[in-house]
Amino acid sequence: MILICRSMILEVCCRWTLATIVALGLSRGAGAEFPVAEPAAAQAADGAVARVGHRAKGFEADGVTFCSDFPSAYVSEYQRLDSGAFQLTIRPENTPINNSAWYAFRVKADQPRTIDVHLTYENGTHRYRPKISRDGKDWSPLDDGSIQRMDRRLVVLQLDVDRQPLWVAAQELVVRETLETWMSRLAELPFAEQTVIGRSVEDRPIYQVQITESEDPGHVIVIGRQHPPEVTGSLGQIAFVDRLVEADDLAVQFRRAFKLHVVGLVNPDGVDRGFWRHNVHGVDLNRDWGPFAQPETRAVRDQVMPLHESPDQTLYLWLDFHSTHHDVFYTQPDEAETFPPEFTRRWLEALDDRTPGYSVRRSSSLNDRPTSQQWAHRTFGIPAITYEFGDNTDREVIHRVARISAEEMMRLLVPLRQPVASTTP
Ligand SMILES: [Zn+2]
Repeated sequence: MILICRSMILEVCCRWTLATIVALGLSRGAGAEFPVAEPAAAQAADGAVARVGHRAKGFEADGVTFCSDFPSAYVSEYQRLDSGAFQLTIRPENTPINNSAWYAFRVKADQPRTIDVHLTYENGTHRYRPKISRDGKDWSPLDDGSIQRMDRRLVVLQLDVDRQPLWVAAQELVVRETLETWMSRLAELPFAEQTVIGRSVEDRPIYQVQITESEDPGHVIVIGRQHPPEVTGSLGQIAFVDRLVEADDLAVQFRRAFKLHVVGLVNPDGVDRGFWRHNVHGVDLNRDWGPFAQPETRAVRDQVMPLHESPDQTLYLWLDFHSTHHDVFYTQPDEAETFPPEFTRRWLEALDDRTPGYSVRRSSSLNDRPTSQQWAHRTFGIPAITYEFGDNTDREVIHRVARISAEEMMRLLVPLRQPVASTTP
């Protein structure tokens, strides 16, 4: 056994902007002009989570207005305290729930002033360091000096506000439109094709992009964003996939041997609504790989099963991108039988060798939990990996490591198809 939990990785929170994200491969961020999603209450009749917060709240005497009227925005309640501070209550969509207490809002004031904003959490605690933006595109972390952590459920922010809206969010916004735009751009490549593989509870399309230059490919599955707040997982997924569509020999060889199936946004409703964790039925989608009670997980399963059931098709790898407190790969233990054998150990060793100063962490288990990773391994016998990036991992580090991991994946997989390819008429 190797590579189990090495030392902590770099977790440097530095300034980043959408310009950085664009350079990292994304094309667009959130903007004020985005369409506003319909309230979730409209769906409550069929058991959906009813979770409509205040879309806008003006405190006229103070000349201060808060809004949560953009995709991925959410604050449950706005109040003015006797002290003159403003209290924003952050509640999850339903409980029980993991602690990923997401929030996002805009605030402006008639006159330039500094306001105290109390973030108070119900059924969760403060997890995400606030990021601020003047346009919803360029983001930076709020200064440490402007954040006072009173206890785990109460954090006081000092915000400088004026007539121009100040955006405040748990992470920089990588919203549904950001991901859908990214996938549409991928689909413009001559060797890529986009399809709608299903629809969410609230009828949003779930897109898949398939990428190949082979008539007889092996298959690699990449999915992401089952959990709405997990922005760094999306950033990693984008950098990873973007590396696979480049024009160099390695990427061309990979596409001539493999077909990549990318479902970049499994939970579009949850991302649109600024949920902490669940879909609109209040279900953690990454605990539905077994029950398949939700349309989002069924959509992915129904795409992949035929690849397994057909004798002419071979699955090689399943990757599911997420975020947690630090970078880590959740994998099968090396003793577990997989095809291809030893992929995970060799992949993570190669990644470790190529990333001095960065420690590759791995956590291995085999269990019956209905996560996509365990289900994919149980069902297909392939290496199935949850690829987690830290909430606070430097965005440049995410970009670099994800690209290297894509390269090392290609280096390991490409030779596995060559003997098969050479016997194909
Ligand atoms: Zn997750």
